[in-house]
Amino acid sequence: MKTLINGTFYSMKDTEIKSKLMISDQGVILSKSDNTKNEIIDMKGKFVYPAFIDSHIHLMGYGQSLSRLTVKGLNKKKDILKFVADNLNNDFIYVEGYKPCDISKNDLNELSSIAAIYLRHEDYHGMTVNDVALDKINLISNNGILLEDEASLALASVPRPKQEELENFLRKAYKKLFSYGIVGGHSDDLFYFNGYKNTMDAFTKISCEIPFYAHLLIHNKVLNDHLKLKENYFKSKYIEEGGVKMFYDGTLGSKTALMKKPYYSDYYGIRILNREQITKILNKAREERMSVAIHVIGDKALEETISFLQEFPPGQDNIDRIIHACFANDEEIHNLKSKSIFLDIQPQFFNSDKKILNFIKDMPKYIYPIKTFDKNNIDFALSSDAPVEDPNPIFGIYDALFRENKDESLDRFTAIKSYTTSAWKLSKLLGGYLEPGYPANLVVLNRDLFHEPKENFRKIKVLSTWVEGNKVYTT
Ligand SMILES: [Zn+2]
Repeated sequence: MKTLINGTFYSMKDTEIKSKLMISDQGVILSKSDNTKNEIIDMKGKFVYPAFIDSHIHLMGYGQSLSRLTVKGLNKKKDILKFVADNLNNDFIYVEGYKPCDISKNDLNELSSIAAIYLRHEDYHGMTVNDVALDKINLISNNGILLEDEASLALASVPRPKQEELENFLRKAYKKLFSYGIVGGHSDDLFYFNGYKNTMDAFTKISCEIPFYAHLLIHNKVLNDHLKLKENYFKSKYIEEGGVKMFYDGTLGSKTALMKKPYYSDYYGIRILNREQITKILNKAREERMSVAIHVIGDKALEETISFLQEFPPGQDNIDRIIHACFANDEEIHNLKSKSIFLDIQPQFFNSDKKILNFIKDMPKYIYPIKTFDKNNIDFALSSDAPVEDPNPIFGIYDALFRENKDESLDRFTAIKSYTTSAWKLSKLLGGYLEPGYPANLVVLNRDLFHEPKENFRKIKVLSTWVEGNKVYTT
């Protein structure tokens, strides 16, 4: 066994602090010594919490973004075009992190009439391409700016990464996430790469190498493959089957989020799925005793999604989740309150979306109402949606604590719990507390999340990350 001493240990069951932590050789937290050889580890006055979990992330997508060209941070048209020109080759170029700023296919056509150019929008719901790329998918577009289904079509024509690359994406992602104190992620990846089988093969192979808890949502477009092949997978405790993922509406950045009040004249945003399609998916999911996880941004989308989930309730022990839930009014809060729907919230969106919010004339009553959700006992966890946002939980917790709108800021205990404990409710495994019987998944920080003032909060550093009693990251 190991005994960690001289640290501040937050169990997160309540605000009580423990002065030491005993861990068995099997990596489980003990209530008393188990009489095996005891290794004493001095934590040197540092701060220990249950390790972080990101409740909505794209693990493979994040690993890919760490490996791919990106224009994240470039805001000027001429800088972005220069970046593309500098990295161009004869075949194709795929660049991520593009914040749409007036680039059209003509600008890209000027750069190349041989190579296909793909600029993936930073919200991952759009793509700006040149004529070579349009020709590959036989699509006509005046400006080359593609959204939602058209963007997916273009994405499908980008040359695919090899199997070893998929595996490397996961290695890179897990390694980086360990350095942020994250030991698990609830991820949506199975539709976007080389098909369900190859993607699952990569997750399975890497689960034998790296002890990272991947809870995998099953995108509705690969649900049939999943049902056919799932027997071969999900054998490792590090890979868990999640709910059926679907998109109810689009995004704010693309003005495709479905709102109750119009963006302009009579345009309200879009529904990605029609009633018939969504009914079919929900029926299938329920038949298979699966929960669902639905992407919802706009308040109208939230209203309609709640009513769908009421019409097709999950079976016993299943918890449906709504991802994002950015806008609400009193009636949605009321309707959520009475149901056991779990929300996946991204605190970093509060700031990223600030500029975009300007074009909504008539705002819903609540914008990212995390405190209102909390007050009404609506369950939620915090997350990054990486690669959309930086997955560093310190940034997420900061944005949840120190909002401009103080009425919707969380208290420290709730914010920390929402990044360490809450998401475990959706897992069949135990986790999220530093309590006897729980796996010793820990993050050790140089400063105290409960007391560090706002000015220095974002500088808090992870010193080590532990999975089941073993260090997986150390500075
Ligand atoms: Zn996402």
